[in-house]
Amino acid sequence: MALKPFYNKGKGDGFHWICRTADHTCKRSIRKDTWMEGSHLPSMTIIRLNYEWIRRVPAQGVLDDLGLAKQTVMDWFFFCQKVCFLDLMRNPQVIGGPDVLVEFSLV
Ligand SMILES: [Zn+2]
Repeated sequence: MALKPFYNKGKGDGFHWICRTADHTCKRSIRKDTWMEGSHLPSMTIIRLNYEWIRRVPAQGVLDDLGLAKQTVMDWFFFCQKVCFLDLMRNPQVIGGPDVLVEFSLV
């Protein structure tokens, strides 16, 4: 059985997965078991926040564009940093090597 995207207007922000077989039909929110679960923001806003964080757009520009409170944007950006930090701590990787110079800075 395969899950397929399903838009259910009027329920939450409408984005779900649906499984239809001869025996049954089941739906679940695309938020289930993701970092969007529990947020009151629309899924598209969350995706846009993540996208802007990846692009390193300053928080001020994001809150102006999305019409969000400064604290909301700061909370999501902090959350994105935390997720990446925890992933790096769980999966450390060596960068650089012999004859390879690695430079980094904290922004
Ligand atoms: Zn099913």
